Amino acid sequence: MAENDPQGLYSALGVQPSATAEQIRAAYRKLAKETHPDTSGNSSAERFHRISAAYEILSDPIRRARYDGSAREAQRQETPRQEAPKQEAKARKQQAKAPTIEPICCSRCGQVTAQPRSVTFFRLYSFLIDYFRQPIQGIFCARCARREGLKSSFITLLVGWWSRRGLIHSVGAILTNGFGGKREPAVDQGLLWHNAQAFLSRGNLQLAYALAVQASVGSDRYVAKDAAELVAKLEKAGADSWQGRLKDPWRVSVLSAAGHILMAFSVPGIVVAFMYAAIIDDRANNRHSHAAASQTSVVTEALPSSVNTCASPPSNGELLGRSRLATAVGHILLINNGSSDDAIVKVKDVSTGEVAAAAFVSGKKTASISGIWDGIYKIQYAFGDRLDSTCRNFIEIKDARQFPGTASLRVEFTPKGIVSQSLSQTLSYSIGVLPASSVAHEHISALEFGRQ
Ligand SMILES: [Zn+2]
Repeated sequence: MAENDPQGLYSALGVQPSATAEQIRAAYRKLAKETHPDTSGNSSAERFHRISAAYEILSDPIRRARYDGSAREAQRQETPRQEAPKQEAKARKQQAKAPTIEPICCSRCGQVTAQPRSVTFFRLYSFLIDYFRQPIQGIFCARCARREGLKSSFITLLVGWWSRRGLIHSVGAILTNGFGGKREPAVDQGLLWHNAQAFLSRGNLQLAYALAVQASVGSDRYVAKDAAELVAKLEKAGADSWQGRLKDPWRVSVLSAAGHILMAFSVPGIVVAFMYAAIIDDRANNRHSHAAASQTSVVTEALPSSVNTCASPPSNGELLGRSRLATAVGHILLINNGSSDDAIVKVKDVSTGEVAAAAFVSGKKTASISGIWDGIYKIQYAFGDRLDSTCRNFIEIKDARQFPGTASLRVEFTPKGIVSQSLSQTLSYSIGVLPASSVAHEHISALEFGRQ
């Protein structure tokens, strides 16, 4: 026999002494079905009776508590050397007085408790889709009950709310734990009545009286009647009704209740916090991309006036970009820039539309493009202040024009040799101050000028 199971009641049912009432009931049902004489013959009849007898005691919380108490008492007597000498002497003295009934002990700490209670706390475990509610049942002293309540609630707080259904039940479980767990008033009444008798048998009349007063009120009429009779007897024997009031250690403290309420509401609080964090995160991301988007647009808008200007402007007469020019022979274009603004001159091949040559002509300067191949050309020019980063185009074109008609350049072969042509043009900017000799140059759009 195990020390905490002196009569082997728990082992008869195949459960641990720490088993819950549900576990005991389930074990009994299974074994009773297996060993019932009607189904399995007379061979197991003895076993069936043993199981039934064990269940009769263990299914009754009060009788079970008494059995557990006797187990502890037996343990104490078996191991007197482990106890302090004082306690040993006290125990012997008590034994000499022949105590008849053992008071009920807390199922957790094993201490005698005057006002024990049968309490069930709940722990919730969620598994994404579903949840499992584990009842933690026992006869507790007030201190152990508070601890167990907090522990169960804390476990629930950690693992109970991970499923949708578990979330709701987690809040319920924590609040139940916070307000003292699930009680069974009729069982509590029986426990008090048992302890009243136990303390009476030990000669503690005042405590017996106080407990009997409590047991005389309750739903179990038989217990209430017996308790009331004991109260009357003890009052006759001189029990003081004023001293018969026990402090209630089971009163739910404000601190404990507040702690549990905090936990209960932090369960959905955690969920809300998670969702809120997700929303904030989402918004932050959106804002970020918006910011990025607007930044890009700012950059695009700011581009024309930004710092992206030509780092080293070309000198007067410098060719811009690739040109299709001959090195030794060819025609020459002389350009006189009559404006104070810088100019870009483009020689465009009419047949292909390509730029044969482009040159930069500084304000009030003269430049020439030489080596132009035979062909029919259109000559365009534009004025501006600043060149862009490519140093080939003005950021903003102030005015663009082209020479009237086209220039047909042909090399002539004479007996004296090859003669190429030389065009001389003056670029004018301000209308109205054109030299008298020059023909009006027509305006073109910036787009037209930029087009190849
Ligand atoms: Zn305890």
